[in-house]
Amino acid sequence: MKQEFIFLGPPACGKGTQTNMLSEFLNFPHIDTGSLLRAEIARESEEGKIAKQFIDKGLLVPPDLVGKIIAKKLGEDSCKNGYVLDGYPRSLEQAKLLDEINKNIDGDSPASFKAIYFDIDKNILIERIIHRQSCPKCGEIYNKKFKPSKIENICDKCQVELKTRADDNEEIAKARFDTYYRETAPLIEFYENKGTLFKLDANGTIDEVWARLMKIVKG
Ligand code: AMP
Repeated sequence: MKQEFIFLGPPACGKGTQTNMLSEFLNFPHIDTGSLLRAEIARESEEGKIAKQFIDKGLLVPPDLVGKIIAKKLGEDSCKNGYVLDGYPRSLEQAKLLDEINKNIDGDSPASFKAIYFDIDKNILIERIIHRQSCPKCGEIYNKKFKPSKIENICDKCQVELKTRADDNEEIAKARFDTYYRETAPLIEFYENKGTLFKLDANGTIDEVWARLMKIVKG
């Protein structure tokens, strides 16, 4: 049966790391809207130019722009057995659109759908963001303080230079948290009411969180 996973949680809660691992484990595409938008910015496309104006302020980019990207991705053959969606949906409007997209694609055979909420102590998150780095090639996420690469600033897997995201500074991070609590946090109740929400204790090491995630995925 097709398996659809979406993830909720504040910035730097560990979703990126765990969803990368999960997509490898299940061999499902990892669809990360933040990375897709940053790729558009790097290409200097029209969409990228629009997205940059919002990302630089810690705001959500317009729903139509992200909705088009998601509808296209989820309709691809690579998603026919399932997908791991990271960073979408991020508002009630996006959640309702995702329901529509899934309905159009899955038709009369609805997939197994799990919304996994990363419940975490908020006090550590700003520190995580400030020290975060990622590999521009494979997407692996590091943290100078909590999960350093073996060689400073170099990806362990690809040997390419690690990058720090332009929006991973204290000022934009604070705006991103405000946006999360205003726009995205209401989705916890939305999925709870549908009976598809799974709460995960996201405190602890990567391995501890992974073990908890596996129980939900296999349960
Ligand atoms: P992330 O990499 O998930 O932290 O996302 C970085 C930024 O990309 C966010 O702060 C938003 O500005 C934008 N973004 C990512 N996903 C979405 C989405 N589903 N809807 C609107 N904006 C998004």
